[in-house]
Amino acid sequence: GRMSVKGVKGAVKQPRMDSVGDTLQRLRETFSAGRTRPAEFRVTQLEGLGRFLRDNQQLLQEALARDLRKSAFEADISEFLMCQMEVTLALKNLHTWMKDEPATKNLLMQLSSTFIRKEPFGLVLIIAPWNYPLNLSLVPLVGALAAGNCVVLKPSEISTSTEKVLTEVLPQYLDQSCFAVMLGGPEETGQLLEHKFDYIFFTGSPRVGRIVMTAAAKHLTPVTLELGGKNPCYVDDNCDPETVANRVAFFRYFNTGQTCVAPDYVLCSPEMQERLLPALQSTIARFFGEDPRSSPNLGRIINDKHFQRLQGLLGCGRVAIGGQSDQRDRYIAPTVLVDVQETEPVMQEEIFGPILPIVNVRSLDEAIDFINRREKPLALYAFSKSNKVVNKMLDRTSSGTFGGNDGFTYLTLPSLPLGGVGNSGMGRYHGKFSFNTFSHHRACLLSPPGLEKLNDIRYPPYPDWKQRL
Ligand code: NAD
Repeated sequence: GRMSVKGVKGAVKQPRMDSVGDTLQRLRETFSAGRTRPAEFRVTQLEGLGRFLRDNQQLLQEALARDLRKSAFEADISEFLMCQMEVTLALKNLHTWMKDEPATKNLLMQLSSTFIRKEPFGLVLIIAPWNYPLNLSLVPLVGALAAGNCVVLKPSEISTSTEKVLTEVLPQYLDQSCFAVMLGGPEETGQLLEHKFDYIFFTGSPRVGRIVMTAAAKHLTPVTLELGGKNPCYVDDNCDPETVANRVAFFRYFNTGQTCVAPDYVLCSPEMQERLLPALQSTIARFFGEDPRSSPNLGRIINDKHFQRLQGLLGCGRVAIGGQSDQRDRYIAPTVLVDVQETEPVMQEEIFGPILPIVNVRSLDEAIDFINRREKPLALYAFSKSNKVVNKMLDRTSSGTFGGNDGFTYLTLPSLPLGGVGNSGMGRYHGKFSFNTFSHHRACLLSPPGLEKLNDIRYPPYPDWKQRL
């Protein structure tokens, strides 16, 4: 199919269909003319983004509710506030971030100046997934615009209501000569990826990450890949089960489990499992009531395909808590599975839904081995009253992020980068890390035009003493 393009110049009210090539060409011309480089231009774009969020909060909340039945509270804390915080931080620090970074000199360069210039790459493509469709489109966008790039945003075609707002409303708040939204699913995005971009920022599955990186390789385009995977959550015997149940359940069932950094499965001893199950049972009842289906705080699965996939996973192991589902409104109850085999699908694929399997291990060492036998996860969690246990888990494993006695609270801090390692991706962003991700770090040495005598020492003919150096 032919990709439709929104956000073209002069098309605010009646977006006209345009060829992808034409739009990309126009954005490139804007970049080449240097329009996006001045700080004032970037400030205007960031302020526009801030206004978009303020003016359309309700519209976006409604869209997120239609897409995922996201509660207003969850939408606020995980989508709006995160975007707003990034906009505010970028506006506050833009001038500092943009400054040339002085670099140390050696003795021969005392009269030169040496620095690192942060310059925009040019034309950036951002591809976003559906689970936090606002956050994962706009937070990267803040970084790309702050760094002075022109941007094409390709939101997920699956979160259709949010996609619509991003397509029809967002471009009105940004300079349309430097920004465009393009729509499409796998086929159209595949076609888009044949074009040359100067940077590609992708958030999604490891499977599609490979497709994106392969396409990028044809043009030697650098990429950031924010991917997913199975995030282990180790629960030590030395724990308070009620506290652990609260924290694990909150982060597992947040956004109905459709979170890339959610704890995917629990590793603990059979004894801990016996203590944890009643605690999880009462936590789930407290969070979502005796009938979670009627709770306004539990969302729904994004679409039928994912619903069916998750319903299949409910058949793994044995249901200890929950397990109910209803196709009609894509409801899946907050569920805990036990007696799960490593070879079952629920332990083979990223769950991405409100299902928490518990796998038994006999010791911390066995848990570490279990984790290290698998792909490096995006997030890793460890619960224990003993710092030694938490630190040993931290020291002996690798993951994009790490939470000790906590879930993904670290996401609320722009001082900490978000990014995977190995199978969970490459690169990082949030706050200043975003600005750096979307900037080329150009090494610069400027020498004085005169004082040529000082250079004699390096020119041929090389006398004997130089040959012996
Ligand atoms: P996905 O990989 O299916 O899709 C992501 C984007 O890629 C969408 O915009 C989609 O249109 C596009 N796409 C899909 N197939 C394509 C193809 N064949 N060629 C080109 N583009 C294609 O991911 P999803 O289902 O939207 O999101 C879920 C995944 O994203 C999970 O694996 C999750 O862990 C991961 N995720 C990671 C992060 C992170 O920050 N690391 C955040 C959210 C989600």
